[in-house]
Order: sequence, then C-alpha cells, then structure tokens
Amino acid sequence: MRLETRRKRRQREAAEQPFADEWRALLSGRWSMWSWLSADEQRRLEQLIKVFIADKRWEAAKGFELTETAQVLIAAQACLLVLELDRDHYRGVGTIIVHPTTLVLHGQRQTGTGGLVSSDPYPILGQAHYEGPVIIAWDAARFDAATPFRGENVVIHEFAHKLDMLDGVIDGTPPLPDDDARRRWIDVCTREFTALSAGLADPLLRDYGAEDPGEFFAVATEVFFCRPVEMRETKPELYEVLSGFYRQDPAARLSKPLDGSGESLPASL
Ligand SMILES: [Zn+2]
Repeated sequence: MRLETRRKRRQREAAEQPFADEWRALLSGRWSMWSWLSADEQRRLEQLIKVFIADKRWEAAKGFELTETAQVLIAAQACLLVLELDRDHYRGVGTIIVHPTTLVLHGQRQTGTGGLVSSDPYPILGQAHYEGPVIIAWDAARFDAATPFRGENVVIHEFAHKLDMLDGVIDGTPPLPDDDARRRWIDVCTREFTALSAGLADPLLRDYGAEDPGEFFAVATEVFFCRPVEMRETKPELYEVLSGFYRQDPAARLSKPLDGSGESLPASL
C-alpha cells in the first residue's frame, strides 16, 4: 500500500481546483507576457501556477502583507521558465520571501570573480539562496511584469539561478541532456560572457551579466524571455542554446499573426 503524502495531496488538490477567473483577469491585466502565450500554453501555465502557489511556503517581510495578487504574479513569472520542463525542476525552491521594495544588505561580500571584498551597503531586488529561499521585491516584480521590453525581470532572474543550482554548482550551466548539449552551451556562453566581461557595449545584455557565469545565465534568461525577437536576431547562438534548454521559442510567439487580424505583434512589445 502506498500512502499519499500530505504534500502530494496538497499538490493534487490544488491541481484539481479550477483556475480562478480573478487570477486570469489579473494575469491578462498586469502581466504583458500572458498575451504572448497560446491558449494551450495559458492553460498549462495555469495548472503550474495553482500547484506552485499551494506547494511553496510563502513569507512576507516584516510589516508587509502578502497578497494573492503578489503570489499569482510571482508564481506566473516563475512558472513560465519551467512551462516545458519537468515541474520537479523547482524541487529546490522551498520558501519565497516577498519584500515590499528594494532590500539593502550590509556586511562583507565578494564582488566579481577577482576575490575583491566590499562592505558597502548593497541594494538588491531579489536573491536566490542555494538550498534556501528566494527573495523578491514586490514593487520590482510588479513593475517588471508590466514592462518586459526593458529586458529585466527579477523573478525570472532569481528562478533562473534556482535552475542553475540544480546540479549543485552555480556556474551558469543548468542540467543539460547530454555532453554535446553541454559542450555547445559552454562554448557559446563562454564566448558571450567573455565579450560582455571585456566591457564591450551590449545593446541587450546588461553589464551585471559580466559579474560571473551564474549572473550571465540569469541575465541572459531575462532577455531570452523578455526581448526574444531581439536576442534571436542579434545573438542567434545564445538564443538557440537557451531555447534548447528551456524547450521554448518565445520569439516565435511574437512573430505569429494575431488571431484573426493577420498582423504581427511589434517586436518591441
Ligand atoms: Zn543574480
């Protein structure tokens, strides 16, 4: 006899619940990318969101009240990354701590890969801890949800780190299916990371991606989902390896004609 664990039961019960109309209205009103998805993708994402919200532990920073709106918008953006992956990819995500706004960290930290240490106050919008919580600033998550064309997204960034951590090292290489894919990944990403680190102006990838390979992967993932058409055009190899890992082609979503109108969405949406 196999007993259903409490956690499995919670997941099953969440999956069986209908997706609330208010949640759908929230996604279509406040998350630009929702309209990029096909009806099938939206339905599958809804399933992931319900289970994700029920399955994870949610905490609010002291003095802040966590709302369902925050949970739904954060869950949606996080689940987009694993839409075509095994749901188990977020097994390393236990707790999500939501802060109202930017947090300022104090204490010593390493900067860059050169071992330099700084003790300056350090403002952050989010943070992903290995075998620990994901921290998100709600005002940034809300703003990013509405403005994908900026190519920055704190939720996508921090959850990309969680995928990178799955193999136990934060090195910018998430688990890949085979050696060939891994070789190709390292070849392409090393080239792009080196160019960014050399200080060459990059119209797509922000400088923070040059901090280390882990940050490069998180920054590149933000652009892959937020500005996919531009990435496919200007960095086709990077787009291809990210598309291979995530098993998604977000640029194709934006290149498709709108239902019935026959017109394409502008690339800068
Ligand atoms: Zn990061």
